[in-house]
Parts: sequence; C-alpha cells; structure tokens
Amino acid sequence: MIESLGRLRKDRHDEAKAWKERMGKKVIGVFCCDVPEELIYAAEMLPVRILGEHEEASEGNLHFPTNVCPYPTSCLDQALKGRYDYLDGVIVPNVCDMVRAMHGAWKLNTDIPNVHFLEVPQRISPHGVEFFRENLAKLQRSLEELSGNSISSESLKQAIDVYNRNRDLLHRAYEMRRKGHVSGVELQEMVLSSMLMPKEEHNQLMDQCLEEAGQRHPADDGVRLFVSASMLDDTDFFQLIEDCGGRVIADDMPTGSRYFFYSVDNEAEPLEALAERYLARIPCPRKMLPQARYQYITETMAGAEIQGVIIHNLKACDCHLYEYPYLKEMLEAKGLPVLFFRGEETEAELETQRDDIEAFIEVLRG
Ligand code: SF4
Repeated sequence: MIESLGRLRKDRHDEAKAWKERMGKKVIGVFCCDVPEELIYAAEMLPVRILGEHEEASEGNLHFPTNVCPYPTSCLDQALKGRYDYLDGVIVPNVCDMVRAMHGAWKLNTDIPNVHFLEVPQRISPHGVEFFRENLAKLQRSLEELSGNSISSESLKQAIDVYNRNRDLLHRAYEMRRKGHVSGVELQEMVLSSMLMPKEEHNQLMDQCLEEAGQRHPADDGVRLFVSASMLDDTDFFQLIEDCGGRVIADDMPTGSRYFFYSVDNEAEPLEALAERYLARIPCPRKMLPQARYQYITETMAGAEIQGVIIHNLKACDCHLYEYPYLKEMLEAKGLPVLFFRGEETEAELETQRDDIEAFIEVLRG
C-alpha cells in the first residue's frame, strides 16, 4: 500500500484525467502551499499541486533565462509540452518573483483557461490576515463561478474537516518516521500523493498505510538527519540520502511538514480561519524572519536526536538563499553540522550530490 503512493505520483496526470472523466467535474492546478485547497474542494473540484520534472526544460527555457529558479520554469515547461492540458484553471499565489511571473507566463502561453492570481501578503500581521481573507472571498466567488456550485459555510467547514483529518494522518506518519516505522522517501510520497488526489481517498489510503507501517519492525540504523529545502517535488533527493546511509527524521519543506503542520480552526468563521492558518502559520522564509524560522526548526527537531542538517535550496530562490547564512550560523552554534546544496533540478546533479552526502555522513558517523 505504501509503495502504491509512489505510483500515484508518477501517474498523476492519468489519475487526474480519469477522475475528471468519471466525476464530470473540473480539475484546478495550484502552486505552492499558500492556496487554501479547501475552497476548491468545497466547490466540488479537484485541486492538484503543479510539479515539475527532472528533464530538460526545452520549452520552458525559451521563456525564462536559465539563471532563474528552475522549479517554475520546469512547471511551465510541462504545461507547454501539453502535460497539464486537462486543467480547467490554475491558481498562482503571490509567493516570489518567479511564481508571480508564472501568472503572466501561463496566461499568455498556455491554453489553460482561468489563470487566477491570488494576492498573499508578504508579512504576517492582523491587517495582513484581514487582507488575505478579503482575497480569499474573491477567490471563492471566482471558484463558484467556474464550478457552478456555491460554497456554503457548511460545505467549507466540511472541507476543512476532511483536510484537517488528512493533516492529522500525515502528522502521525511524521511521528512514525521519527521512530523508524516510515522512511523519509515514504513520508514524502505520502505528502506528494496527498497533494494530487481527492483528500477523502487519500485519508482512506493513509489509514491503511499507517496500519501497515505500525506492524513493521522499526529501523534504528542510519545517521539521523534534518532536511530543510525550498522545493523538492519528487523523492530522488531523499532516496539519495537514504542510499548514502542517512535517515531523514524531520524536515522543513513545502512538500513536507510545511504542507500539513497546523490545522485550520474549524470553530472560527471559515474564511478567517483559512486566512489565519495559510498566512500566519506556514513557516515559510518568504514571510518569516530567520529568527522565527530558526525557532520553528529547533522546535521541530526537539527530541529527535538530529546529528546533522542538509539544506537544499534551488538556485536563485532568493527567499531561501537570503536566510541560509543566518540559519547555518545558528545551527552550527548549536553544534549541528550543515551540508548545503544549491539545486538545479537536473538528473545529472544527483551524482555530484552523492559524493558530498556520502562524505558528510562519514564525518557524522565519526
Ligand atoms: S523555490 Fe523559491 S524561487 Fe522557486 S518558486 Fe519556490 S519560493 Fe519561488
């Protein structure tokens, strides 16, 4: 069952197309962790995370210089190659310069209709939450129009319940990874598949996966690592770490803990609760200062007996690269060695990274 999650990710386009045909409903692509998927779910559409591929961005590179973040370029490349032709809409949040540029690039160069720009404040504050709430209300109206379904307070609360349950299940898997019942690769497959399929179905799969994992003998070998990353949209890097004798115990990644940490308060007014959770709680360097991020990371590591930290930032990702020197200094002051990579999203780089990870793990083994 756990292995099947990886297949779901690899077959994600066929799975989404089959869902669309079966249900007669629409599929909406989303970028990053800042889009409240609950709104799409409540409008009876399927939200799917837009991911890139480790392949030559032959089409994407015609639109962007090669010295920018490779993740959005790779996503555009996939769209230009027709892999996202089944999408009925795309939501692009105001995350960083490159994702902002995606709004125009997808609008101008793809045939995908309804490319919606979601304004997200750059700083966390009560005014920011209120502003974000107003923008979520606009998004709600646009999704209602697109789907032909109105989103009631009840349907939104029901969506929040389903999503909170998924967060709880992923959190349980995260705790099981610490204890050795789930590997780093497996947890990442769980998170990525959650971003790509209907949440109730994923909740059922997760119930079975956790039961399966609970019956295993826990792994107790491997050097215990913490991974912080700007964007790892497949499991190759984690697989490499595990092949080199490392064990990822905890993480700080948009395709990891940042996706499912913190539930939405389902007692509060739904749009306000979504604004609060998605703006104020996701610990992303785009909107949090390094000290706050460091506090979050140390809390995440607490009790996990971490031996070293690997930081993987995509090249030209300003938000993550600016904070890196501060994080490194703070982590090393705590006695934690740090290995840093500037990722390119190519197959070839994995081989060069292998040598560095092997050497790092050897040093940590002492
Ligand atoms: S990895 Fe960084 S630069 Fe690239 S899309 Fe994400 S936030 Fe933007």
